[in-house]
Amino acid sequence: MIALAPQPTVRPAPAGHHLTSVVSASRLNCFHTCRLKFFFRYVLELVKSATAALFVGKAVHAALQQWSTARWRGQTHDASSLKPGFILNWVTGQEEEPVKWEPGEENDQQDKAWGLVEMYLRDTPIPAEEKPEAVEVRVDADLAKHGLPTLVGIIDLVRPGGRIVDFKTSAATPNAEQVVHRNETQLTAYGLLYREATGRPESGFELHHLVKTKVPKLVVSQAPAATEGQLTKFFRLIESYVDGVEREDFVPSPGLQCASCEFFNECRAWNGGAQ
Ligand code: SF4
Repeated sequence: MIALAPQPTVRPAPAGHHLTSVVSASRLNCFHTCRLKFFFRYVLELVKSATAALFVGKAVHAALQQWSTARWRGQTHDASSLKPGFILNWVTGQEEEPVKWEPGEENDQQDKAWGLVEMYLRDTPIPAEEKPEAVEVRVDADLAKHGLPTLVGIIDLVRPGGRIVDFKTSAATPNAEQVVHRNETQLTAYGLLYREATGRPESGFELHHLVKTKVPKLVVSQAPAATEGQLTKFFRLIESYVDGVEREDFVPSPGLQCASCEFFNECRAWNGGAQ
C-alpha cells in the first residue's frame, strides 16, 4: 500500500492574477507539459530544495554569463580569471538555495561543473575577440495589441548581427532532429523579445548544449529566425495558457516527464480537488 503525503489544498488563481497578465517561456512550457505541475509550482508556489543537476546547471550558466560580460567589457576572460567567481558563486548560490548533496557528492559535482566550463571555453565557436551585442538581458514585450499578456524573458547572449544564443547543460547528447523543435517555444519567445527591444528581427538562434558525458562535450544546434507561422503558433500557445489558467484547468499529464518531477509525491496525493 502506498503511503500518500498530505494533500495540498487546491487554491484557484484569483481573477487578474499575475499569472495571466505576465507570461514567460518557462511558464508556458511548464503549463503545456503538465498543468498540475504548473499548479504546484506557480499557483501554490511550493518550494523544493534544488537538485544537484539544477544547481550545477545554474553554476555553469553563471560562469558563462561572467565570461560573456567580461568579453563585452573588454576584460580578461580566460579560465583562470573566471575560476574565483565560479567558486564564489558556488558558495553564495547555496546560501540562497540549499542543495541536498549525497555524502562526498559536492566536490565531485563542483569538479564536473568546472570541467564543463573549461571545455566550453576551449571548444566554443565564439571567437575570443567577439564583442557581444547583449548579455543576460531582461526584455518585456507588451502583446496587448494581440489581446495577450506581457511576455517577459532573459536572453543569455546576443552575438553581433542579432544571433541569439541560449546555454544549456544536459546529461545526454541532444537529439539533432528534435532539439530545435523541443526548444521552439523558448526560441520563438526570445525572437519576439529581441524584436521588441531592437525593432528588427533576430538573424537566427544557437543552442549551446554543454553535455555532461564522461568526457564533457559541446553540441551547437542552429535555427533560422522565427517564421510568421511560428509566431502565430506561439500566440495560440499563450491563448491556450491564459484560457486554461483562468478556468483553473490544472489536470495531471503522467508521462516520461514524471521521472524528473519535483512534485511527484504531491501529485500522487492529489485527489482532483475533492474535499
Ligand atoms: S508527477 Fe507527472 S503528472 Fe504529476 S505533476 Fe509531475 S509531471 Fe505532472
